[in-house]
Amino acid sequence: RGAQRAAYLEGLNPEQREAVETLDGPVLVLAGAGTGKTRVLTTRIAHILSLGRARASEILAVTFTNKAAREMKHRIGAMVGEAVEGMPWLGTFHSIGAKILRRHAELVNLKPDFTILDVDDQIRLLKQLIAAADIDEKRWPGRLLATQIDGWKNRGLTPDQVPAGEGAVFGNGRGRDLYAAYQARLKTLNAADFGDLLLETIRLFREHPAVLAQYQARFKYILVDEYQDTNVAQYLWLRLLAQRPSAATSTSPRRGEVDAPSASGEGGPASPSQTLSPPHPTSALRANVDLSPRGRGEAVPAAMPNPPHAPPKNICCVGDDDQSIYGWRGAEVDNILRFDHDFPGAKVIRLERNYRSTAHILGAASHLIAHNEGRLGKTLRSEGEAGEKVVVSSSWDSEEEARAIGEEIEQLQRRGHRLDEIAILVRASFQMREIEDRFVTLGLPYRVIGGPRFYERAEIRDAMAYLRLVNQPADDLAFERIVNVPKRGLGDAALQSLHDLARARGVPLLEAARAMSTSEAVKPKPRAALRDLVAAFDRWRAQRDTLPHTELAEIVLDESGYTEMWQKDRSADAAGRLENLKELVRSMEDFENLQGFLEHVSLVMDTDRGEDLDAVSIMTLHAAKGLEFDTVFLPGWEEGLLPHQRSLDENGRAGLEEERRLAHVGITRARKNARISFVSNRRIHGSWSSSLPSRFLDELPEQHVEVLEAKGGFAGYGNAYGSRFDTTAAFGSSYTTPGWRRAQKNRGGFEEDPHEYSQVEPEEPTGRMRDIGSRRPPAGGGNGT
Ligand code: ATP
Ligand code: MG
Repeated sequence: RGAQRAAYLEGLNPEQREAVETLDGPVLVLAGAGTGKTRVLTTRIAHILSLGRARASEILAVTFTNKAAREMKHRIGAMVGEAVEGMPWLGTFHSIGAKILRRHAELVNLKPDFTILDVDDQIRLLKQLIAAADIDEKRWPGRLLATQIDGWKNRGLTPDQVPAGEGAVFGNGRGRDLYAAYQARLKTLNAADFGDLLLETIRLFREHPAVLAQYQARFKYILVDEYQDTNVAQYLWLRLLAQRPSAATSTSPRRGEVDAPSASGEGGPASPSQTLSPPHPTSALRANVDLSPRGRGEAVPAAMPNPPHAPPKNICCVGDDDQSIYGWRGAEVDNILRFDHDFPGAKVIRLERNYRSTAHILGAASHLIAHNEGRLGKTLRSEGEAGEKVVVSSSWDSEEEARAIGEEIEQLQRRGHRLDEIAILVRASFQMREIEDRFVTLGLPYRVIGGPRFYERAEIRDAMAYLRLVNQPADDLAFERIVNVPKRGLGDAALQSLHDLARARGVPLLEAARAMSTSEAVKPKPRAALRDLVAAFDRWRAQRDTLPHTELAEIVLDESGYTEMWQKDRSADAAGRLENLKELVRSMEDFENLQGFLEHVSLVMDTDRGEDLDAVSIMTLHAAKGLEFDTVFLPGWEEGLLPHQRSLDENGRAGLEEERRLAHVGITRARKNARISFVSNRRIHGSWSSSLPSRFLDELPEQHVEVLEAKGGFAGYGNAYGSRFDTTAAFGSSYTTPGWRRAQKNRGGFEEDPHEYSQVEPEEPTGRMRDIGSRRPPAGGGNGT
């Protein structure tokens, strides 16, 4: 045991070692990117196990992703070897919540084998409830309600706790009732949605103190990574588990008692006014920080004072306020800043040595984040060499940007770099399309982390199914996909006879549909629907040979009602899907005809997705948290994209600061090379517009940055509006209005992934591809004189 101990503790710096060895009482490790926070957590678990302080099953460790949990398990195994039996409870909040909930499902009116619904199921269910309540789903779409319910669940609010005002918004006052009906329906279906995995566990704990006490006694050590991004529900859940068992059993036996701290002192389930209280000025951590940084006007729950003689357990949380990037999903950076208030006597340990990045990369990132006001501030030193400066380059447009990235990666590959050590981090998922296309052309293996690849998105698959069927009327898979998308009033019975007929006659489904559309045996409504569909495909097929294929694609999407379906959908992600459809049509321009395009896509889709393949990783900045790569490409640093226009519009300064943290997370993923790029022209909503370099570029310190001269020679310094990064020369114009205001106005909305905004003001739907976004201001560049 001694030898093992020496091995895993070796190499830790004194502060890290202190964080690993301080096993009793609450510990907060508050430190910047790459300082070894995650490593401290992993080593701490190994240390607890090898000292025999707890059995594996008595340790609860929470990671931000399942992948991180797997990695941590692997590392712990390597550190302590065969000596340990079993494994800690190691996973995300959701996976651990699910594990607990299954064990006690009956207590919350579920069965142990309950289903976990995905978002699509959830929305389908909500749509039914909305219809049953006689609410116009077109005005009040299921997706919007789903977003709202998720928001409530993130805040730990059951239906009866939703504030009256908020609960009254949806469906003119029906939101809260629909939420209650939804919860009841889930129970009859023996199902839980994602939010329930936490919320129902909290309810279980509150209503059954004995069950809670059992877990409080079990978990001797609690560890949490990425603590800065916990939301209220996660915080409550953690607080309950982090108390000594006596706290739950010695006080009131009724429900709600563990949630104690109400101003009114009333028992019963905590009402929002009881669980929410203003920030606590007593925290030493936050003494000099303005902590209303989120600007959402939402306070976090009050602390739960532990009863006397019951000090909080051995809880160790690690995090970095500068990497809080999930505010839009309800995360409360405040949680980390009040840790020492919530857990009196907490030891706060700061790590200041960064082991990940070179001095140039770290210098650039630290300087950038220093522009945020709502932060604690911290010292960070690089342990590495100076390395190479952060490279900033520009391209004419995103296609050229993708080509440049591809070229550079090929060069790296030739010099012996592993593709696994290269990542491309984008702000919005639509940016992936051109990069993926380029990689396919080059034959560069890649994987998309944390989301479907562009051509695998539902709306893209739908659109492709239409185009495939136009190209190849016997494509039954395509037919099945779109026959009722959008809804054409074809019921299960009609579809069944369609299939039967096709099989009996040995013809494709489209031909069977043709036969049925004239058959008296078919009811008038489905018959008419099939007739229209068949006629439409005949028309499109005729147009295939006369019209340019991009135009044909627009016509197909418009005339089929598919575009309109998404335009009428007032949900949070509808705009993003329309953006993707636009991008799809745009991507067709690169091909001579429809056939060539379809072939290209099937090749893209066929690319090996093997996990162990040496491949470049492509993901959003949000998905990159906690990860590291030798080389990181950061494309699209333009106003409106990073910072993202919607964050600015909806959350003002707080939104801008969260965007800056995202940029900071991006740069700090790199060990050796960070390569930032921006383009001077972006095509949004089908029309070109000049884009302005991100203000974050100006916030990078010159001494750590190398600006590459663009081929066109326009990425120079100095211009009318004071940015070092100038694209104006490219247009032979100069801006008359200094500053960024004009630039922001001209930004249209980009795809919102991974944002899920609840307030979406839809445009009047026209059902036409070419009109998407037409309400937005005209493209920039016109302000030149
Ligand atoms: P992030 O905030 O991005 O999640 P982090 O603080 O969790 O970063 P880690 O991922 O734990 O940082 O560590 C960053 C890198 O530094 C890892 O490659 C890790 O192995 C290495 N590292 C950490 N501590 C040391 C050390 N004492 N000596 C050498 N390398 C270290
Ligand atoms: Mg980490």
